[in-house]
Amino acid sequence: MTTVKDLLKTVDVEDGLTAEELFDRKSSVGMTYNDFLILPGFIDFPADAATCETHITRHYKIKTPFVSSPMDTVTETDMAISMALMGGLGVIHHNCTIEKQADMVRKVKKFENGFILDPLCMSPDNVVEDVINTKMKYGFCGIPITENGKMKSKLLGIVTSRDIDFLQSEADLKIKLKDVMTTDLVTAKDGISLHEANEILRKSKKGKLLIVDDEYRLVALLARSDLIKTRDFPNASTVHKSNQLLCAAAISTHPEDKKRVAALVEAGLDIVVIDSSQGNSSFQIDMIKFIKENYPHIDVIGGNVVTKEQARNLIEAGVDGLRIGMGSGSICITQEVMACGRPQGTAVYRVCQLARQFGIPCIADGGIQNVGHIVKAIALGASGVMMGGLLAGTTESPGEYFYHEGKKLKRYRGMGSLDAMDSGGAASKRYYSESDKIKVAQGVSGSVVDRGSVKKFLEYLELGLKHSMQDIGVKSLKQLWENVDNGTVRFEKRTSSAQIEGGVHGLYSYEKRLYQ
Ligand code: NAD
Ligand code: IMP
Repeated sequence: MTTVKDLLKTVDVEDGLTAEELFDRKSSVGMTYNDFLILPGFIDFPADAATCETHITRHYKIKTPFVSSPMDTVTETDMAISMALMGGLGVIHHNCTIEKQADMVRKVKKFENGFILDPLCMSPDNVVEDVINTKMKYGFCGIPITENGKMKSKLLGIVTSRDIDFLQSEADLKIKLKDVMTTDLVTAKDGISLHEANEILRKSKKGKLLIVDDEYRLVALLARSDLIKTRDFPNASTVHKSNQLLCAAAISTHPEDKKRVAALVEAGLDIVVIDSSQGNSSFQIDMIKFIKENYPHIDVIGGNVVTKEQARNLIEAGVDGLRIGMGSGSICITQEVMACGRPQGTAVYRVCQLARQFGIPCIADGGIQNVGHIVKAIALGASGVMMGGLLAGTTESPGEYFYHEGKKLKRYRGMGSLDAMDSGGAASKRYYSESDKIKVAQGVSGSVVDRGSVKKFLEYLELGLKHSMQDIGVKSLKQLWENVDNGTVRFEKRTSSAQIEGGVHGLYSYEKRLYQ
């Protein structure tokens, strides 16, 4: 007699679509991340057994597939350091002078967890009120005083809470810092190891150790409060097991950026990202060849591409990685203005399909709004995801917070926005030649909400990704790609009403808190 058990063994359980069926070319429809879902698989392991290690370029592996965009409201020194510490990669933007960008690269490469490389400084002519305002705004007090009020200027003293605690009258607030600062300083020479610096701080019992160069110019600061907070970053993206963090920076396809590459390489760069919305150009191909010929040890990420043909040309030119996305960014108006681009789901799937055959890792760039989008991008073949808007509101992104209608916000702008083009940086040279009277924008300028520290946010993204991998039933990204390829991982399209059903609905009010 046939038992139910026997019957269950033979019953057809094939469901959903393979990735190839999902992106069926004959349907001639481009799909975004929201247009489909991944069907759940079988769970036989805890979420923390999943690993997210991935090749981000041909020669570099990182522990988490997260990359920050080369945008001037997203990635400068602090973001690049934090991304690398957390096992990802930050790409330093190039809307600045060559010297400034090279200096940022140098700081990432020289970073030792614990040193603050850009502390807020003041000049002897600042007044007590400035310190009080800073304390209110940032919550810290312990401000080095240098000759011109900036880093790399001669160190004169330090102002801490103890120096100003009793100065509260109108007249007190106007007292110059040179009249209240402490000049008996504990300093150490640049080049000191973190361990030695910690020892000096511990013995001195002071709150801050000031690091100076041979000419007594301030180059860094070590804070006792940070010592207590200093943690290990076991996932940190480092270079060939050295202590140096992995560092990437962007350049344009303009020939004058050959000089930029030289300066960045000199500063210690590992990966260069050629930044263009339409990467399939003779300009980019020339630049790739130039870099591969002159700096063969540097990995080159080319892009952006969204079609197989674009990808083929850049692979032929010698890239070690590709960046996928045209018109999918949150600040982007490229598809509207240029009528060119591709929905991001389809772009990622098609380009990765080709690149994989040549061992070229791809980064899905733009349009990532949540953990689900990250999982989908990776399921479609991406080795990493690049995020701009999602990271722009963190403490480590450039710029100050401001309040608007009770919300704490930070500015976020497209690198092709008029705002960025008017900033006087490298973006100013884009889109128009000297004779052009009109600038054609491809991006907008706006703001995003505060997301707190990027370190905590990345922990959330990583854990979210691992929980999703558990639901799908895969323990590694490699297994996910294999199972998508062999049809074990299945997909399904979503109608617009299915998308509404998949979000919070039917509530009078709610608060969406994602992690704590
Ligand atoms: P780009 O520098 O690639 O192109 C700007 C203009 O300069 C184009 O007309 C291009 O053809 C021209 N150009 C480039 N190299 C040249 C050369 N060597 N000689 C002569 N002309 C040359 O910059 P872009 O594509 O406009 O992108 C600007 C910024 O905005 C980048 O940061 C990019 O990432 C971002 N962006 C991204 C997207 C996207 O969808 N991913 C879309 C628009 C803008
Ligand atoms: P987001 O993560 O959706 O905010 O998208 C970030 C990505 O948008 C970047 O990594 C760039 O590829 C892209 N981008 C940056 N600036 C512009 C712009 O001005 N117009 C269009 N796309 C841009």
